[in-house]
Amino acid sequence: MTMTKEEQQQNHIAGHKEQGHKSLLQSDALYQYILETSVYPREHESLKELRELTQKHPWNLMATPADEGQLLGMLLKLINAKNTMEIGVYTGYSLLSTALALPPHGKILAMDVNRQYYELGLPVIQKAGVAHKIDFREGPALSLLDQLIKQEKNKGTFDFIFVDADKDNYLNYHKRVIELVKVGGLIGYDNTLWNGSVVAPPDAPLMNYIRHYRHFVMELNKALALDSRVEICQLPVGDGITLCRRII
Ligand code: SAM
Ligand code: CA
Repeated sequence: MTMTKEEQQQNHIAGHKEQGHKSLLQSDALYQYILETSVYPREHESLKELRELTQKHPWNLMATPADEGQLLGMLLKLINAKNTMEIGVYTGYSLLSTALALPPHGKILAMDVNRQYYELGLPVIQKAGVAHKIDFREGPALSLLDQLIKQEKNKGTFDFIFVDADKDNYLNYHKRVIELVKVGGLIGYDNTLWNGSVVAPPDAPLMNYIRHYRHFVMELNKALALDSRVEICQLPVGDGITLCRRII
């Protein structure tokens, strides 16, 4: 059944109201069911503490939701990841999910322009006993990636790279991280369904930041679908995560 233009607009307005639950599922009740049945009962106590601490922060909408953290942990164990990178840390929910999933000598190179956000969550990460796995670098990720790429020894060395920072740079990140991830390794691009706005009609009443970055997310999705160096899988978990497995 095709929706009328008015119904499509209503849908997008409803989507915004529900944004707080951070899922693309149509029913809030269904999402709560997933969280309460399968996610929260298995959530590490430090992740719970970090989630609750982050809820008090004004930018808490940026945090990775608990079901996505659970997915990341499972993926990292499945691929036996040891050396990983994260671009966009905020208070560290995905970072702590990663640190808990890696073996004791696992490593995460974590980047964010804002060290204060990272330091908010750091005491919880330290208490969890996994801070030694994290090498945090403060600064714009593009220049940090350029420095890494200059050294041949860094190329093809990462098992997993999670990209969750400024969406207008995702294609620039892709050019670089594709060289840094191993053949057979994974890149995860977060927020690739951008609050559902990738299918919004041109005149939909979108919030400014959603409208601003929408084009970049759509361009990334098109580019990844055409990139023969990777196999891809777009999952409607959280705000959409696209997994790219480097094949050449
Ligand atoms: N992964 C995080 C989590 O699990 O809570 C959420 C990351 S949040 C969506 C995006 C982060 O990217 C912010 O902390 C922001 O400071 C950072 N950021 C924005 N632009 C950046 C850039 N150019 N380089 C590095 N980090 C950047
Ligand atoms: Ca995100």
